[in-house]
Amino acid sequence: MVLDIIINMNAFILDFEKKVKDSIKKYDLIIGNERIAVAISGGKDSTSLLYLLKKFGCNVFALFIDLKIKGNSDENLKRITAFCKKNCIELRIVDLKKEAGHSLLEICRTYQKEHDSTNCAICGAIKRHYLNKFAKKWGADKLATGHNLDDEAENLLLNIFSNNYDLCFGLGPGSVKDDVGLFIPRIKPLYDCLNSETEKYSRLMGFDIYPEICPLRADAFRKDVRHMISKIKNNDFLKRKLVNNFLDILKKMPAKKFLGAVKCFECSEPSRKGLCKACEILKFSKKR
Ligand code: SF4
Ligand SMILES: [Zn+2]
Repeated sequence: MVLDIIINMNAFILDFEKKVKDSIKKYDLIIGNERIAVAISGGKDSTSLLYLLKKFGCNVFALFIDLKIKGNSDENLKRITAFCKKNCIELRIVDLKKEAGHSLLEICRTYQKEHDSTNCAICGAIKRHYLNKFAKKWGADKLATGHNLDDEAENLLLNIFSNNYDLCFGLGPGSVKDDVGLFIPRIKPLYDCLNSETEKYSRLMGFDIYPEICPLRADAFRKDVRHMISKIKNNDFLKRKLVNNFLDILKKMPAKKFLGAVKCFECSEPSRKGLCKACEILKFSKKR
């Protein structure tokens, strides 16, 4: 009986690892000895991803954006530092207070005085900005994120429900290099893995994941979409179908667009209108 359980656990671990390896091959995510920055938050997805890329012999380093979220960032960083040390992985940290002069909470509060925006939307723009900037600065060829199949299905529906069809072009398992080198290509090696599978893998591997959710989490719309999907019978099948059908559509499009990105006139990072979203947000904190 106990032996059966151990055999099943090992079989799951091997299957999961094979699935990630197969996705890397299938989507051509990593070529040769490319240097990969892995965006690590301390959660189950990014920790599993970092562990696996290192295990597969990839040239990786961990990239953590320290958002200075009280009681949360420190706990995550403590665990990430120990994890990287144990697995001989280089860890690079971007300190938001040093870079922007404020913690995420301070940035959110000042911006929200004049804008109707959620903490997570602001946080997403800030993280995307610094991940792109520092992955390039520290010599990465690509940026790997821990997005899984559930995330992709949710993002797809969120973009459609919010009438942001353009943003769907940014989805998919990997992006290619843009002509002017503004965006670092992004890859999602967990693209074919369900959230429940990553959760199980992380648990079976005994990764030390901080159990508390982020105290600033406020993304009601995403929660609604997740809830809606969970209510559908056979929803794992539906998520795969949705994402795979979308990939077929993406393949038929002439080429992936970069949404007309131009250099931000403040920071030289990509923007859509001349001033990037992060600079637009941070402008309000600087006024204080
Ligand atoms: S839950 Fe929201 S605010 Fe917290 S780290 Fe994630 S995106 Fe940022
Ligand atoms: Zn900018």
